[in-house]
Amino acid sequence: MSVIVFVEHDGGVIKKKNFEAVQYASGIAQKTGATVTAVILGTIADAEIEKLGAYGAQKVLHVDDNRLDELHPRAYTTALLTAIEKEDAKIIVALNDINGRAVAPRVAVKLKAGLVAGALTYPDMEKGFLIKKAVYSGKAFAYVNITSDTKVIMLMPNTFPVAKTEGKATIEKLPVNFGDKDFGIKVKEVSKVTGEVSLSDAALVVSGGRGMKGPENWYLIEDLAKELGAATACSRPVSDADWRPHHEHVGQTGGTIRPDLYIAVGISGAIQHLAGVNGSKTIVVINRDPEAPFFKAANYGVIGDAMEVLPRLTEAVKKFKLHK
Ligand SMILES: Cc1cc2nc3c(=O)[nH]c(=O)nc-3n(C[C@H](O)[C@H](O)[C@H](O)COP(=O)(O)OP(=O)(O)OC[C@H]3O[C@@H](n4cnc5c(N)ncnc54)[C@H](O)[C@@H]3O)c2cc1C
Repeated sequence: MSVIVFVEHDGGVIKKKNFEAVQYASGIAQKTGATVTAVILGTIADAEIEKLGAYGAQKVLHVDDNRLDELHPRAYTTALLTAIEKEDAKIIVALNDINGRAVAPRVAVKLKAGLVAGALTYPDMEKGFLIKKAVYSGKAFAYVNITSDTKVIMLMPNTFPVAKTEGKATIEKLPVNFGDKDFGIKVKEVSKVTGEVSLSDAALVVSGGRGMKGPENWYLIEDLAKELGAATACSRPVSDADWRPHHEHVGQTGGTIRPDLYIAVGISGAIQHLAGVNGSKTIVVINRDPEAPFFKAANYGVIGDAMEVLPRLTEAVKKFKLHK
């Protein structure tokens, strides 16, 4: 019996969050005496697929069909169901991200399986199959017991640190019989963000709010981000005003991120904003108002004007790097 893990790649490159999902599946497999089979779709080199072995996959099923280079939720579901049947898998792991959310619930419906979206822990098998997840925009936790025979878990990315092992995976091509309906949606164009650190994967994020006053001051955020090797993000009013692109907006209605370090500059800390960032391991707030609500959620705070604090912080990071 296998634990199946759905692995995504970005133009042939596997990102860190997928190694985390494989490692998570491996942790469950060890508890249940199962093996781990990863499923990967579309055009990707074997040398890249082999990396999954170091995170606990014993086998990788590769559906080598270039129509799967773009997200086709129905075709992805068909491919995963084929793999699940082949491996007689009862536990399926996917990420709680855009692709995972498009595919995992479809798989769960087809298999009449219970599903937990946004898992934050390994299942506690002494209490059944109990998993903790965040609810109400991260303000509370729910403990969900999956009682169905087949179980689908969508792991919240950036929940566990990943560690490499010496493990190796074998790669098998998996033939899949797709139907016409599987490719019923035609993707006309894909616009990808390039040349920046990807926000969803970033370990460090520098984020700006309305306190930055306008897009002309954003170089201050970008300078600090560049020195740190961080991604940039923003609050919703900032993207609504077109100071920054919408993919940078984090919060209840934007992206959810869980970086190691989140530096919030000129952001008040409204609950709708916190909903997207309160899983960050360390939060640093820079705000000139000592009463700003964000300070309550911060590990470190700087009370001061962003226009003065940011250049000094960037200089300090530069100096620190020079003397390292
Ligand atoms: C249904 C709904 C969903 C929402 N979803 C989101 C969401 O997903 N993401 C999100 O961000 N918001 C969301 N909002 C909006 C949210 O409620 C807040 O209005 C928003 O987060 C405020 O953005 P801000 O902190 O950038 O701006 P402001 O509230 O205007 O705060 C600006 C901050 O900058 C500080 N400041 C000003 N000048 C300086 C300076 N020179 N130096 C340092 N600090 C300075 C101020 O003291 C203040 O704290 C949502 C709202 C609703 C109703």
